Amino acid sequence: MTIKILDNDTINQIAAGEVVERPASVVKELVENALDAGAAQISVEITGGGINLIRVTDNGGGIPAAEVELAFQRHATSKITNPKDLHNIHSLGFRGEALPSIAAVADVEVLTCGAGSAGTYIRLESGVVIQKQTQARAQGTTITVSGLFRRVPARLKFLKSMPTENSHVANAVSQYALAFPEVSFTLTVEGKQTLHTAGKGKLLESILDVYGAEIAARMLPVARREDRWKSGQGASSIEVAGMAGAPEVGRAGRGYLSFFVNRRWVTNRVLSYAVEEAYTGLMMTGRHPVAVLDITVPPEEVDVNIHPAKSEVKFRNEPEVFRAVQKAVRQALVSQMPVPQIDEPSAAYAAPPSHRQQMWNPPRAEEHALTGAKTAPPGTAPLGTPQPLLASLPVLRVIGQVMNCYIVAEGPDGLYIIDQHAAHERIRYDRVIRERAQRSVKVQGLLEPATFELTPRQAAIMNSCLKDLAEFGFTLEPFGEKTFLVRAVPVTSAGDNWAGMLRELLDALSGEARSRWEEKMVASIACHGAIKSGQALSDDEMRALVRQLEETPDPHTCPHGRPTIIRLDRSHLERGFGRG
Ligand code: ADP
Ligand code: MG
Repeated sequence: MTIKILDNDTINQIAAGEVVERPASVVKELVENALDAGAAQISVEITGGGINLIRVTDNGGGIPAAEVELAFQRHATSKITNPKDLHNIHSLGFRGEALPSIAAVADVEVLTCGAGSAGTYIRLESGVVIQKQTQARAQGTTITVSGLFRRVPARLKFLKSMPTENSHVANAVSQYALAFPEVSFTLTVEGKQTLHTAGKGKLLESILDVYGAEIAARMLPVARREDRWKSGQGASSIEVAGMAGAPEVGRAGRGYLSFFVNRRWVTNRVLSYAVEEAYTGLMMTGRHPVAVLDITVPPEEVDVNIHPAKSEVKFRNEPEVFRAVQKAVRQALVSQMPVPQIDEPSAAYAAPPSHRQQMWNPPRAEEHALTGAKTAPPGTAPLGTPQPLLASLPVLRVIGQVMNCYIVAEGPDGLYIIDQHAAHERIRYDRVIRERAQRSVKVQGLLEPATFELTPRQAAIMNSCLKDLAEFGFTLEPFGEKTFLVRAVPVTSAGDNWAGMLRELLDALSGEARSRWEEKMVASIACHGAIKSGQALSDDEMRALVRQLEETPDPHTCPHGRPTIIRLDRSHLERGFGRG
């Protein structure tokens, strides 16, 4: 093929591929533009996961009539003028790429009005202006994006389910609501308002709106400034401000860390690591902190031009920023925290199931032999090791509990040691699956319906899995923006902290394909109410547990594939005592 320069439409689509990955990327760019325009109110509206429609309305400075079309030219920006400016960026946008990229992959309408100028309406299809007229509007801008990726079917295929895209949009808006407490944000999904912040400038209020009262009540203020003086460069500082959750509000995932560098929402591994480090020794393993931190550094010390979506940054002096963040958070925790109480003994079980599954390696040959797992290849059992366990368990006589973790029992062919948590998880797992398949889920109605508050991101997922949860025995209905009314819960979860379980489940579902939701639900319900390691059991409780385990069709492994039971038979004991 001969070499030729690509036409504009192709160039724009290639560039759009980098900037516009999914509906949430469009929302992010439009919200950033509204913030750069000095808006005090920003409202975001989406339907169909953002594919059908995204509308962002702001009351910022607006675009002068004469410049509206220009804004859609590639590399047209009002924010920088020369290469030197790239090293001293004070706005969120600077490349002049977002609007042309969006227009290349969707239909766009703009209604805008700058100070002292007439309002303007333009409509673009395939990046080409097909309609332009004067139209009245108060100062500000409304941009409507419809049919996203309709002309790029390959992109559409990569999108996840609608609830997943909704949750990404909710997350993007939530992050900027946290970064700009002085701006009032509204998010409306399918006609329902799911987030509203007052814009009164109080971070704690934004945290309350985004994460709910339970988290907001346990946030500690962070404020620390490192002053530096470098010869020849004068004085400068790194400032870390925001809030960090008390250690007991640890979450199962890392999705609760928000970083803003000079108020730009970024993801950065060094920053996450610095915060996690600050909680060392204060938080259970497997838990992750909640934090909202704004890091202010001199603009020339941070490169924001390293990522197509500007969502990553590079610090000139990374170790220094790491130390500043770690110290600031640690200081907040240590100076304001009440005496830490880590009373949940089951730290090892704190990681979410999918994570644990990855950590679990297939049993080694000798474990196969001990547990008699059905997968043990023939001939791998070392000489003299016990016979495999029978598929179903023999009747066992419970002897007692050791380390508050294991039940010791005697069977016809040796000594059995049962992992109480793993065994109970297996029992519950089978029960949940069986009851649901037979449509015989036992539910317990609550005396008073309980209200149950979620983050916008969780609420988006919740709205789309109400029916699935109902099949597992959770009777829930929407009750306001992000609140749900709980009328009944499955008996299996009734005595348990089902609210915490549901929140963790919703967090876990947001990154998952819909086809895996059911599996995740079963695993969460089974795991959460299960007897924990470290829990003392009465003789009756142990006997009941062993009886139930005997009745499960597959008693030897927990749902994650780890053994529930190991056996030491006579020959094993005899060898141990030098009799064999
Ligand atoms: P960038 O933000 O990098 O400058 P964009 O393509 O996002 O590039 O926007 C191009 C220009 O359009 C901006 O520089 C700005 O002047 C103008 N603009 C875009 N959105 C808005 C808005 N909501 N309010 C005012 N001006 C806007
Ligand atoms: Mg922009």
